[in-house]
Amino acid sequence: MKVALITVGCKLNQCESSALSQRLKESGLEVVHEMEEADLVIVNTCTVTNTADSKSRSYMKQAKKLGKRVVVTGCYATTDGEEIQRRGLADMVVPNEEKFTLPSLLLESFVGEKEDFPLVVEYERTRAYVKIQDGCNRFCSYCKIPYGRGRSRSLVAEEVIRRAKNLVERGYREIVLTGVNISDYKDGEKGLSALVQELVALSGEYRVRLSSLQPDQWEDGLLEVLSHPKMTPHLHLSLQSGSDTVLERMRRRYRVEDFRQLCARIRETRQDVSLTTDIIVGFPGETDEEFEQTKRLVQHVAFSRVHLFSYSPRAGTWAATQKQLSEEVKKARLHDLERVVLSTAEKWVKDTLLGREATVLVEEHDGEFSYGYTEHYLYTKIQGVFAPNTFVSVVPCDTWVYQGAISLRAEKS
Ligand code: SF4
Repeated sequence: MKVALITVGCKLNQCESSALSQRLKESGLEVVHEMEEADLVIVNTCTVTNTADSKSRSYMKQAKKLGKRVVVTGCYATTDGEEIQRRGLADMVVPNEEKFTLPSLLLESFVGEKEDFPLVVEYERTRAYVKIQDGCNRFCSYCKIPYGRGRSRSLVAEEVIRRAKNLVERGYREIVLTGVNISDYKDGEKGLSALVQELVALSGEYRVRLSSLQPDQWEDGLLEVLSHPKMTPHLHLSLQSGSDTVLERMRRRYRVEDFRQLCARIRETRQDVSLTTDIIVGFPGETDEEFEQTKRLVQHVAFSRVHLFSYSPRAGTWAATQKQLSEEVKKARLHDLERVVLSTAEKWVKDTLLGREATVLVEEHDGEFSYGYTEHYLYTKIQGVFAPNTFVSVVPCDTWVYQGAISLRAEKS
């Protein structure tokens, strides 16, 4: 199958496209330059402005006009996937967090080859994603994943460790454990924290990051591992709403107070843990007061970054059958919460991280500045040129906003 990969947007998107292109080739797919030559067109979209949205859509339309199968990923696909599908612009929408599983998804969906745990997903030569779990049994009332991905299952620990060890030996400096719900990870008696304990014990120069965790499946063993030098002080705890009544309607299995207490315990263990989350705004029936409760929780917890989504119905789910809020209300709440997120994140970052040494894993440089993420998952712009895939000790001196999230400016320490 011939695949054309079109990229809209920032350097990060371009970088990811080149890594993706490499992975597509390694999976045996042919990558071509022109849409006309391709059987399938991937549009790696961006949503930073309205122009980026419309540019992304125009590539999809162009590909559809040529009679190609269209797969979209990237930021616009993540925020407006339902809308894209409703408008018939794409055959498949793949959110950002699953971008690097595209080679196996394409093989599975369009070529008929299925592999549950594709070897690894790699980002350039710095970060490697190891998929340790797939599927979900939880059936939140808005989510289609359990229908599409089946029951929860895990990759055996021995194989996870073998893969990670191999990646570290090949020079990858950050191992990210991913899955649909890695909190569900199980290999016999072994859960996620036991797996992470083994992972951080490998020799070599690398660090470990975890993708999204479910608050109610929290394992206290993770508190212990948080102080390990190879473990990044960053946890992504999936919140979705700061209102108990909305959480109930979402069929989430924790309440606001549980979440609040968990965050407090984490920060008691290690005060500088950077907490990130996902929130859905405008869930069916969300009242002004329920929305205000979410705002208050965001202010209370002080997340360093929040992936905000405006609720959009997924056919076949309970929430899609409920009375929907208007697009205007959803949009207004999204913008309102965006402002709160940015200001609380900025305050937390300034109070906690500025002036204290951090370590950036450099991804790229432009001849004047170098860019990469700190252990706290703060995107950082460093004065000076440093080689990609090296750890650089820095002192953050200021904040700036990059792609809608608080980021750091820093100087080498
Ligand atoms: S939102 Fe997450 S936990 Fe809930 S059903 Fe979907 S994949 Fe499972």
